[in-house]
Amino acid sequence: MAMERTLVLIKPDGVQRGLVGEIVSRFEKKGLKMVGCKMMRLDEAVLREHYAHIADKPFFPGVSNFMKSSPVLAMCWEGLECVEAVRLITGVTKGRAADAGTIRGDFAMSVSCNVIHTSDTVENATKEVARFFNSDELHEYFKSEAEHVYNEEERA
Ligand code: ADP
Repeated sequence: MAMERTLVLIKPDGVQRGLVGEIVSRFEKKGLKMVGCKMMRLDEAVLREHYAHIADKPFFPGVSNFMKSSPVLAMCWEGLECVEAVRLITGVTKGRAADAGTIRGDFAMSVSCNVIHTSDTVENATKEVARFFNSDELHEYFKSEAEHVYNEEERA
């Protein structure tokens, strides 16, 4: 069991639709710890890196324009094996096919305007957190709720 950090971006549609508070609230209520948060505008260079795995797809220019259309909220969340836990809360890419109860299932209809990005693997999470946050923007602190979120073995 490992304490992990993962990257979450609230995409331009989430910011424009006023879903920031709702999304942050879901991660907080889950018992995850926010260790970094900032609003930023993404440029083509960071998007080409971040979306390298879809850069040669025909839909990439549309995705890139969408991601640049307004600021995004970048967040780093921490928790036990949280990369997978956050993906479960995210739901599948196509909003209208995502399970009810997930963020995309509850708030998205589109395959591209799907409200949030979340890291898909532990390896990618490490790279993505480093891509969006300088080390002095990530905060280590004690959060007393850990005692109630995790059992003794999980906290060790
Ligand atoms: P996910 O965000 O679920 O990890 P991907 O990494 O496959 O999904 O794709 C990155 C992003 O590219 C998606 O979140 C979505 O915004 C966009 N995208 C993926 N597939 C399509 C598609 N077929 N048409 C348009 N946009 C897409």
